Amino acid sequence: MTEQRVTTDVVIVGAGPVGLFAIFELGLLGLKAHVVDILDKPGGQCAELYPEKPIYDIPALPVVSGGELVERLMTQAEPFEPVFHLGHMAEKLEKLDNGNWLLTTDYGMVLEAPVIVVAAGGGSFMPKKPPIAGIDAFEGNSVFYAVRKMEAFRGKHLVVAGGGDSALDWTLNLQPVAASVTLVHRRVDFRAAPDSVEKMRAMVEAGKINFRIAQISGLEGEGGQLTGVKLKSPEEGEWVEPCDILLPFYGLTMKMGPIADFGLNLHENHIAVDTEKFETSVPQIFAIGDINTYPGKLKLILSGFHEAALMAQQAFRYVHPDKKLRFQYTTSSSELQQRLKVA
Ligand SMILES: Cc1cc2nc3c(=O)[nH]c(=O)nc-3n(C[C@H](O)[C@H](O)[C@H](O)COP(=O)(O)OP(=O)(O)OC[C@H]3O[C@@H](n4cnc5c(N)ncnc54)[C@H](O)[C@@H]3O)c2cc1C
Repeated sequence: MTEQRVTTDVVIVGAGPVGLFAIFELGLLGLKAHVVDILDKPGGQCAELYPEKPIYDIPALPVVSGGELVERLMTQAEPFEPVFHLGHMAEKLEKLDNGNWLLTTDYGMVLEAPVIVVAAGGGSFMPKKPPIAGIDAFEGNSVFYAVRKMEAFRGKHLVVAGGGDSALDWTLNLQPVAASVTLVHRRVDFRAAPDSVEKMRAMVEAGKINFRIAQISGLEGEGGQLTGVKLKSPEEGEWVEPCDILLPFYGLTMKMGPIADFGLNLHENHIAVDTEKFETSVPQIFAIGDINTYPGKLKLILSGFHEAALMAQQAFRYVHPDKKLRFQYTTSSSELQQRLKVA
């Protein structure tokens, strides 16, 4: 893993709806943003938990699905050319002698900026680990809860476990790359999109994928290297399915994670902020959206949008202490319209 280093105006932790709208509000003021998210796609809870559910309380959109809202926010942010670092967990935050902050991700990105915006929602989505004795010893070597680079699995014998979208998507995507793919799910029905299930069943029929209805009861291997997973089912009893890699996809839970160690004042697992700028107890670090708390806080997307707008004003002052900030409307300011690439 090679370390990559970038310097920018603002680093946003979290590409949920509020982090995405923050790109827009910062962009209007001429500030560039890099966005870090542990997930492999933008959208936070909207994309991960309810992409197809209708939302009815976004101003001027009487009804919009979680997925469509994310698409619209991405389009709105586009003129400002944000740089996304998806699949990266923000892990460490340090203050530099030059007054900037240095944020390091678990995947070797180092981002320097005068302003950090924590838009981490309910926290990072963490994989639910299967309760299999001794699994820790194999993690990172031959047990993985996410696919970061498909190439890492080329020519390997894979067992993919789970019945949701991630399990099905990775079964289908890795099939052409892997030496073999065995999908293990405890029942015949799946939670995943019907289209993926259909594709998977066709591949099983064609002999390209193995599908076993079973539960994982143990792991076999040494020195962190799996040689097989023990499976059991009421019909077939217990057996060992040989493999090099196990990819369990049993859903996600949300935890505050490393942000709890960023040195910010917390109140009941949320980051305390003021309501003028949504700045935390540490100057130049802001918290917006579901992750923050203040008297009267409502965990709604629209509250996060308002917080992003006010945060951006103060962020500008930190990035350009020598410049005057002018309040302008998008309808009438040619400067804003140029930034929006509409003039
Ligand atoms: C089922 C359901 C229905 C809802 N319906 C509505 C509704 O109708 N109207 C409404 O206004 N709200 C609704 N909400 C709430 C709404 O989804 C949240 O208020 C909103 O998602 C908060 O946005 P956010 O950007 O603050 O955080 P999130 O959407 O939680 O996004 C935070 C992002 O930060 C990332 N992250 C966290 N920690 C790290 C880290 N250390 N490193 C990297 N990335 C990190 C996470 O992976 C995530 O992608 C609903 C929520 C649910 C679950």
